[in-house]
Amino acid sequence: MYRLSVNTGSGTDFIEITAAVQEFVNSSGAKDGVCYIYVPHTTAGITINEHADPSVVEDIAEQLAALVPQRSGYHHAEGNSPAHIKAGLIGNSQYLFIEEGKLVLGTWQGIFFCEFDGPRKRTVLVKIMAD
Ligand code: ZN
Repeated sequence: MYRLSVNTGSGTDFIEITAAVQEFVNSSGAKDGVCYIYVPHTTAGITINEHADPSVVEDIAEQLAALVPQRSGYHHAEGNSPAHIKAGLIGNSQYLFIEEGKLVLGTWQGIFFCEFDGPRKRTVLVKIMAD
């Protein structure tokens, strides 16, 4: 299993990790197989979405903020309930296929680590299983 460290910015931060995950695939030597990505955090997640236009993840972040407002009245005493809820909506795992040593992604797709309670030092777990 590979571990990727990600240093995130304050508040909400979407960081593309496609190249780093592909490097793990390269070093594994896998030609065909599956790549599992898991985020072991409760206020961060992982998504695959458009990376060609950076305003797409900006729109996702803004609409998540509209959906889950910052306000008082949440029960969780730590005060970061919106981050927990957004992480739940995005999810904390993804999987991709590997073909001829490359992650199979659509032309416009990239893998994004999604921070909802930054800044923090985060870890992404990546497991590569070759055929
Ligand atoms: Zn909390």
